[in-house]
This record gives sequence, C-alpha cells and structure tokens, in this order.
Amino acid sequence: MRNYTEIIERLRHLDRPIELLGTAHGYPIHQIRLAFPSARAARHVLITGGVHGDEPAGVEAVLQFLERDNTPLLKHFSFLVIPCINPYGYVNNTRETFDGIDINRAFEADNIAEVAIVKKALGQTQFSLAIDFHEDYDATGFYLYEGKRDEEYIGSNLAAAAKAVGPIDPEDPGEDAPDLAEGVYKVATSWGTQGLAPYLLHFHSEHVIISETPTVWELQQRASLHLTILDTALNVLSEKES
Ligand SMILES: [Zn+2]
Repeated sequence: MRNYTEIIERLRHLDRPIELLGTAHGYPIHQIRLAFPSARAARHVLITGGVHGDEPAGVEAVLQFLERDNTPLLKHFSFLVIPCINPYGYVNNTRETFDGIDINRAFEADNIAEVAIVKKALGQTQFSLAIDFHEDYDATGFYLYEGKRDEEYIGSNLAAAAKAVGPIDPEDPGEDAPDLAEGVYKVATSWGTQGLAPYLLHFHSEHVIISETPTVWELQQRASLHLTILDTALNVLSEKES
C-alpha cells in the first residue's frame, strides 16, 4: 500500500492554494492552478498523473513539477495540474479504480466518480497542450503518443530530447497507433473518446501527449523523462509564439 497522505502533505507544502475537486472512494482529488494574473494571453496547459494507480512515476513527476520554480514559464503559460486522478489505485497499486474501472477507458461514462471530477475541473477550458504521464510494465525504454488537431507533430523533437534520459522502447504498440517518428505514435481517431488524451483532443485541447516510461527504470529516471517531455513541448510552443 502506498501512502496518499504523503502526496497531500507535499501539496500542502507548496506555497499556493490546493483546491479540492471532489472525493472518490474516500480519497480527495485535488487541482492546483499556476498562473500570473496579469498574463491574460497565456496558453492553458493541463498536466495530469495517476490515471492508472499502479504507475506512481506520473504522480511523482507532477509533484516535482509543482515543487520546482516555474516562474519563467508563467510568462507564456498557465497550468491546471491534477496530480493524482485515481488515488484509490495509487494507494492499492491497481491500474483500475475501487470499482475495477480503467479510467482511461471510461471518459464516455457519466457515472464514474474520478471521470466526473476530471470533467468538472476541465469545465469549458480549451487547452493549448495537455500531457498525461503513464508507465509501461513491459517496456524497456520510453515512448510517447501524440495527438494534434493541426497534425504539425513535434514528437520527433520530444523523443530526441528524451533520449538524453534513457533509450526509446524498441517495441511498436501496433497498427492502432500509427508511427509518427521513432518512439512516437499517433493518438488515432479510431480510439474514440474513452481515454483521457483522446477525450481531451476531441473536446478540450488542440495538442495532447501521453508520456510512457518503463517501470524497470528507477523512479527518478521515470519522473525526469516525463518532465523532459513536458519541458521540451513547452519550449517548442513558446518558440512558436515569439
Ligand atoms: Zn497507464
């Protein structure tokens, strides 16, 4: 069993408000917003972890993002951060929720507590980028999925930067996810909108990334990989702007 109280303690230590979105199976789910009030033109970015409870590196990466100084980024971006979408799974080390639901296959449902909480957080917000952190128990290297409404993919840049942290996984996830670049696969329309990233791409975000790290790596290496993908994506976005 993992200790969810430690997560909440780390959130409380941040020098900013943590907002309670709701409670699922007895566990609170929080959001944290990072923004300069004056930066009205800032692009909205969504960062999520812990959709799958047995993938703790995503939660760790989100916490490390919140714990570092993001001041330079706030000139360009505002962030909505949900550190742990599936706390029951996080505590009990299960991919699914208490009810045996894989949240990443449940976004078309209206009766799943965790999904309802995320949808409430999203509101009517349109994001420039949404990134969801995952892990893969079978992989030996990292890979990522990317979806972009304008199809101007940046995955090859992301993978090139992430190679400094570790190797790309040699396995191809198959024909459901067309190749975009080495280690980069497309969030395909054939996925529907049951998963968080395809749901966001359809309804809330012009650009989505699912970052996958191999569980065989040390926790810190996995968290670093996620943050490298995020930072590289933000870099590309802010360069485009200027
Ligand atoms: Zn996952």
